[in-house]
Amino acid sequence: WDARKYSGMVEDCGCDYETVNQLNEEVLHPILQELVKTSFFRYFKVKLWCDCPFWPDDGMCRLRDCSVCECPDNEFPELFKEPSKARLADDMACQEGKPQAAVNRTLDNPWTHDDETDNAEMTYVNLQLNPERYTGYSGPSARRIWDEIYKENCAKYPFKESCSEQKLLYKLISGLHSSISVHIASDYLIDEVVELWDQNLDLLHDRVMKHPERVRNLYFTFLFVLRAVTKAADYLEQFNYNTGNSQEELKTTQLLVQLLVFNPKIRASCPLPFDEAQLWKGEKGPVLMHQIQKQFRNISAMMDCVGCEKCRLWGKLQVLGLGTALDILFF
Ligand code: FAD
Repeated sequence: WDARKYSGMVEDCGCDYETVNQLNEEVLHPILQELVKTSFFRYFKVKLWCDCPFWPDDGMCRLRDCSVCECPDNEFPELFKEPSKARLADDMACQEGKPQAAVNRTLDNPWTHDDETDNAEMTYVNLQLNPERYTGYSGPSARRIWDEIYKENCAKYPFKESCSEQKLLYKLISGLHSSISVHIASDYLIDEVVELWDQNLDLLHDRVMKHPERVRNLYFTFLFVLRAVTKAADYLEQFNYNTGNSQEELKTTQLLVQLLVFNPKIRASCPLPFDEAQLWKGEKGPVLMHQIQKQFRNISAMMDCVGCEKCRLWGKLQVLGLGTALDILFF
């Protein structure tokens, strides 16, 4: 890590690299590590098996480390089995008058492809048992997905000519790609015979660190999501995290409050991580927004073509996260 390469403000953002590092180390990472263990956040309801709408399945699913271990039926909190939109609508009705203006009240997310209300096709996954790590998924199948994502959806315009709105999509996807590579490098199968997992610093260097643009995009994506989370702070603080265990619910709410509201460090050192008001201005704004929304929805649909279950799981989760951030910031 060469700190000198990354000093000053993160491009198009309102914070500098040093502040992001410090915030992450001292505040965000420790709290998030606890938050992801709570039952509200460790279970993920997802449509894992859908046909790829772009090309026929290439049967890559047989790699051992690609398999996802589903939750036994009794492990998953009953409350989660209600369609999430109904649950959200219910929560909103109960919270009438509470501050939630920052969050889109129409419950469809126009940025993503999956319909989360379709309970019959959903699978329940304990993310703690299925960490994002090296799976062995690579070669033409993985390459085709990334190529399509960049070719079709991000780089339709010569980069020099493209405006901030078009660059935004590229930077978010590239940041996500860097994050996936960092996770592969931080939990890598070093020795298959003795099942030894460890860091792979060469991989980290080759895929991310030696490309400053990829590192910059990782920081950009981090700040973009952080801005969405802080914008939705009041709503997130008052959301119903009930999974049937009141102690867990209390703990989850406390962690979120710690993360969002009472942590003066975030507000003092990085009050506006990203300024969404600068985008979609001018005559072309609405057309551009529509176009980029369509491109992002395509990327979301492409997750059904990822030929490795666990990669698909994390791909879907992360694209849903980015789609939600886009929804919070641009509606
Ligand atoms: P890739 O990472 O496949 O990159 C392909 C090309 O994209 C590179 O040659 C480069 O030109 C460009 N590129 C790379 N990084 C960036 C960037 N940050 N910004 C811009 N351009 C870039 N594998 C796992 O082991 N575990 C996982 O959890 C996992 N999840 C995945 C999720 C998705 C959605 C996809 C599509 C793939 C996933 N993979 C996962 C596979 C992994 O991302 C790689 O494709 C695989 O390891 C092969 O890597 P590679 O060296 O060929 O380069």
